Amino acid sequence: MKPLRTFKVTPYLPAALESLRFLAYNLHFSWNVETRNVFSRMDPDLWDRCAHNPIALLGEIRQERLDELAEDPGFLAQLERATQQLHSYLQKDTWYRKHRAAHAVEGECYAYFSAEFGLADCLPIYSGGLGVLAGDHLKAASDLGLPLVGVGLLYQKGYFRQYLNPDGWQQERYPINDFFNMPLELQKDPEGKEIRIEVDYPNRKVLARIWKVNVGRVPLYLLDTNIEPNSQYDQDITDELYGGDQDLRIHQEIMLGIGGVRALRALGIRPTVYHMNEGHSAFLAVERMRLLMAEQGLSFEEAWQVAKSSQMFTTHTPVPAGIDLFPPDKIDYYLGSYYSQLGLSRERFLALGRENTGDFQSPFSMAVLAINMASFVNGVSKLHGAVSRKMFSRLWPGIPLEEVPITSITNGIHTRTWVGEEYQALYDRYLGPDWPEAPPSDPLWQKVDRIPDSELWRIHERSRSRLVSFTRERLMAQLHKRAASNIEVQRASEALNPEILTIGFARRFATYKRATLLLRNPDRLKALLNHPKYPMQFIFAGKAHPRDTPGKELIRQIVQLSRQPEFRQHLVFIEDYDMHVTSMMVAGVDVWLNNPLRPREASGTSGMKAAANGGQNLSILDGWWDEADYYQTGWPIGRGEEYEDRAYQDEVESNALYDLLEQEVAPAFYQVSSDGLPHQWIQRMKQSIRLNAPLFSTQRMVQEYAERAYIPLSNYFDRMRSENFESARRFTRWQNHLQENWYGIQVLGVQIEHPQGTLAKSGVQDSQQGCQTVMARDPLTITVEVRLGSLQPQDVVLQAYQGPVDDTGHIQQGQITPMHYVQTVEDRAIFSGQIRYDASGLQGLALRVMPFHPDMHDPYEMRLMLWA
Ligand SMILES: *Cc1c(COP(=O)(O)O)cnc(C)c1O
Repeated sequence: MKPLRTFKVTPYLPAALESLRFLAYNLHFSWNVETRNVFSRMDPDLWDRCAHNPIALLGEIRQERLDELAEDPGFLAQLERATQQLHSYLQKDTWYRKHRAAHAVEGECYAYFSAEFGLADCLPIYSGGLGVLAGDHLKAASDLGLPLVGVGLLYQKGYFRQYLNPDGWQQERYPINDFFNMPLELQKDPEGKEIRIEVDYPNRKVLARIWKVNVGRVPLYLLDTNIEPNSQYDQDITDELYGGDQDLRIHQEIMLGIGGVRALRALGIRPTVYHMNEGHSAFLAVERMRLLMAEQGLSFEEAWQVAKSSQMFTTHTPVPAGIDLFPPDKIDYYLGSYYSQLGLSRERFLALGRENTGDFQSPFSMAVLAINMASFVNGVSKLHGAVSRKMFSRLWPGIPLEEVPITSITNGIHTRTWVGEEYQALYDRYLGPDWPEAPPSDPLWQKVDRIPDSELWRIHERSRSRLVSFTRERLMAQLHKRAASNIEVQRASEALNPEILTIGFARRFATYKRATLLLRNPDRLKALLNHPKYPMQFIFAGKAHPRDTPGKELIRQIVQLSRQPEFRQHLVFIEDYDMHVTSMMVAGVDVWLNNPLRPREASGTSGMKAAANGGQNLSILDGWWDEADYYQTGWPIGRGEEYEDRAYQDEVESNALYDLLEQEVAPAFYQVSSDGLPHQWIQRMKQSIRLNAPLFSTQRMVQEYAERAYIPLSNYFDRMRSENFESARRFTRWQNHLQENWYGIQVLGVQIEHPQGTLAKSGVQDSQQGCQTVMARDPLTITVEVRLGSLQPQDVVLQAYQGPVDDTGHIQQGQITPMHYVQTVEDRAIFSGQIRYDASGLQGLALRVMPFHPDMHDPYEMRLMLWA
């Protein structure tokens, strides 16, 4: 039933409490303990009941309670402190101000596009790791003072809420988000009218309005199509996250990418960098090229060049199946109008999203589009970077795998969001309040060792107890809803033991994460749980995608097992995993378990959250854990093997897991000194905090994005737009000229000189003959003659590429030495350089030519490499 009219009813706040509104409309409360305590103190039950949504709290709290608080000096003092903290946070001197502001280009601004954002449990517009990472990215950008804005969609229903039926089968609930009672501000023009944008869809336009979320100092803009006069279908474009069919998905991606660009313009924001977090937003590039052509009179190539100079792409998917693909006819239908506006033929447009541009049947890939439109591409851990280089290597034909220009920036977490309240107070006390932004090299981290063992352990034990109480309450509430028997409820109130080794496993139930690996041998598991000296317990949580039947089956198996008498006190499943459940778990567990199929966990972040709270990780060497100090801060399961046979792998790895739990983890945990403290375990907790908290933080991560991408791309874009885009036109002309003449380049001859004389002098064709012997470390002088045709020597770089030759006759991991231009004799350009071999054995030498131009951002961007 649609209401006739809707009103926004705002609470009447006594004057003394007016600053509550300021605090409530800034998500700063999601990582500021003082502010959260202010809200919770107002009415602790209501605060929990409204999912820690301060606007709902202010709307629902009784007026008498507000009047009471307005007279309570203790409360007013706390409110004053929290308000002061937000004010000084918004004004503080930041990393950006110190390191960049003075050199920033005009209007420097970074727009971060993502289909989901996980900022707080009261704003349920995320499904899992991708969204939480995006939320943490904004928070760290705010801490660092970056001129960054977020762009996303505001889902009326968000992601589903999970509950289980009596059989343990996942059911989904879709509560409607009431935007007017959330920390969201509708964007209006100076006359007070809603700002609306229009986006073209086949045969119609769809309207969207814009909401703003304040994330500290960073604004996040969210598009909402649930308005008149949009048709019902169009209103539902922003209904659900990852719901609906392929058509709905493409509608959403058009709204996110194209609508997002229009929304920023409507707000007067002109970014210098567009960051595509995953491929969902890649249509933004298409809209930007259209605008550049229409408004600046650029050709398609010029517009592509300009757009690309300011765009970047972060991929999160290590498997081809995870990538958004659309059949060509869907692209025709939804984006066909762009073909002519960009002056492109159908095939030319489709080629922008095709890995193999010659295959006219192949689908249109959003990831390929994003890569083709980006000047900086990265994966989210070192291992994932390598996997991505391999996965997309066909886009850079002829370029050695390790040089494929996809790099990596390892994910992190926003530490103030994820470190438990009491741990934060402890770190503040012993490390000083600046620890969340201190880099790994900061000596401040050494002070972790000064934290008294007893203090750290006391806080940890309290967090574990709290987790146990929280879990029991959740279990009882779950059972009540299911109208379970009193006995069952009674049992739930006694589930778990606050004193024993507690292991957490919580994540999306995608099958590659293998949630049931631990259940593979129930007898062994039973023995571990009920061990007379070293008992342990497991807490599971997680949602399966509504259409992922195998994922739901895994949940059912866990729940069924958790009902059996030998398991039920020690193994539980908490329903409806969300950011709040994560917080409780990562602060309270001793060990965080993760056992994905390597290398399918691009990064993973939940283990980082546990680590920053002193938790030990027990994990397959995948994602971030593969590059962590996995002996000092936890345990690796296996050594990074990859298997062909899945059943065999599960067998091997589950046994390794049982062995580790039994022989390493439990004995370490229960090794207690005479003073009752497990000093060695506490030592491990400290190592985890000291080593992992600074390294796997979004402060480190976002700073890396700024230094390696946002700042260089702002400069690149600024070069391209200079002289009214004349420099982009010039650069594009040069690129076209180079492209046309590239394959006319001929390497005519190579001469290699040794200290003892000429080693080889040959035309290239017969250089394969024979294999000569040189001494390691002998300097070799190489002289190359190249016919460049209409190109100039300064248009190219010549490189020697040397290294060990593998059994297929290819040079592996070649070392690159640039050669310098000497002179031109007739039509031959002469280049020369010196190399030497530091290793002995069969070594190869190759020569290659790459384009060069001072305006190029990196030597691979034209994807041209000519091998002699
Ligand atoms: C941190 C977090 C995730 C990400 O966890 P992974 O380790 O990537 O599986 C997912 N969901 C929620 C609610 C989180 O807080």
